[in-house]
Amino acid sequence: MPSVIVIGAGMSGLCMAVKLRRAGITDFTVLEKASDVGGTWRDNTYPGLRCDVPSAFYQYFFDRNPDWSHFFAAGDEIQDYFRGVVDRFALREHIELDTEVTRAEFAEGRWRVRTADGRTREADFLISASGVLHHPVVPDIPGLDSFDGAWFHTARWDHSVSLADKRVGVVGTGSTGVQIVSELGGSVPKLSLFQRTPQWVLPVPNWRNDRLTRALRSRFPALTSLEYRLIEGIFSILVAAVTRPGWQRTMISKLCELNLRTVRDQDLRRKLTPDYQAMCKRLVMSPSFYRAVRRPGVEVITERIDHVEPRGVVTTDGTLHEVDVLALATGFDSHAYLRPVELVGPTGRTLSDAWSEGPRAYRTVALPEFPNLFLLMGPHSPVGNFSLVPIAEVQADYAISWIRAWQRGEYTTAAPTREATDDYNARLRAAMPNTVWATGCQSWYLGKDGLPEVWPWSPHRHARMLRDRHTDEFVVDPAQEGVWR
Ligand code: NAP
Repeated sequence: MPSVIVIGAGMSGLCMAVKLRRAGITDFTVLEKASDVGGTWRDNTYPGLRCDVPSAFYQYFFDRNPDWSHFFAAGDEIQDYFRGVVDRFALREHIELDTEVTRAEFAEGRWRVRTADGRTREADFLISASGVLHHPVVPDIPGLDSFDGAWFHTARWDHSVSLADKRVGVVGTGSTGVQIVSELGGSVPKLSLFQRTPQWVLPVPNWRNDRLTRALRSRFPALTSLEYRLIEGIFSILVAAVTRPGWQRTMISKLCELNLRTVRDQDLRRKLTPDYQAMCKRLVMSPSFYRAVRRPGVEVITERIDHVEPRGVVTTDGTLHEVDVLALATGFDSHAYLRPVELVGPTGRTLSDAWSEGPRAYRTVALPEFPNLFLLMGPHSPVGNFSLVPIAEVQADYAISWIRAWQRGEYTTAAPTREATDDYNARLRAAMPNTVWATGCQSWYLGKDGLPEVWPWSPHRHARMLRDRHTDEFVVDPAQEGVWR
């Protein structure tokens, strides 16, 4: 029986855990550094939090929930769903909470995994499911610490701070900032949105699923499967739009432009007009953002932030914008994948060495010189405006197929070759100019070299690619350690 350690009990780690159980592999442990499962949905609790991928598609295909309250579910409902997965699939005994992995080293044919409590565990396989957008970026704004009010990153929302009668400042206009402004605009006495770059916004409505719909879905599970596939099909328009020029890209751009025209105030519209193509940054979905910024007490500030002082934010034109609470919707370090875990392969090569030029993997799921390691949501995964859940399922299935082969005695240790990894990455890079992410804007999709670090084709192509293990592209059971190199 193979033993497996999974790092992280978020959406992809739980997916892996279910797949392991279903494959009859019971010797596995999921190590989670926080005190609860759920990853993103545990960390993010800000006002207005919703998933902007329809709930019917942002769920495991093997565990479709007939009861989603809305087309786009709120964050706490999604977190409840993932907590429910733990119970429905009897995962509790496999999950160790408050257990942070600090180092993992492959030696003598096994992974030795060290945790912050000083313990070391061993396993035949290591699966990284540590998430993509996990480390909040707190910008280095001079004077932030001198602020008299409360300030926090949106992924660390401080609910002990009451917002009633408060003047709230929000820095950032990504999906997070837009959701917060849409929720709080008009409900707090003053809301100041500090916008560095405007965003294109697609106004997709969010409707409530009535009782009849939910009852029908419960009674006829085939309906949830149909709905899942239908939404997946509709998403293929968005996928085509981001990955290649064509009518889909034009159509979504036009819809965003039409949405912007609903802002009649010329000055405000000018402030909200981006100077780059729609979808170059991750497309923001919101039916209410433009309404929210027109509500009384809401102000869009486009002057750059100069510094923070005790009473509020001072912009470069010298204006002091007084606020009582400052929420930093300033995003995440998308390139810190797996770090700060220190990963060491059998040749002594570390992850930092391997990724000195940026995160590069073999077909999104494995790394040369790091045998028996699989990555979920690894480098260049299809995370651009798509549901990450089916991606995690495909990647978990790929890892399972290798683990099953191990059980059948086909190999003991395996890692992809450097040549296959380099070839694959060269093909990725060649496809990037076609994508909308490479059309000239700053975004978290871009790597150090300015090229997007996401999948440049359709998620279906990614699924097809991982249907086969491609064993000929792996180094299997080398006679000496050095051969991994
Ligand atoms: P983000 O998209 O990276 O946006 C960060 C924002 O902060 C940008 O507007 C950025 O401006 C601004 N910013 C950063 N540093 C700044 C500074 N020093 N001064 C002023 N402004 C600054 O982050 P996010 O909104 O948290 O979203 C991250 C990702 O999380 C999304 O793209 C999405 O994948 C995911 N997300 C998903 C949902 C969902 O519903 N599924 C919801 C929220 C988030 P610039 O544009 O000028 O850099």
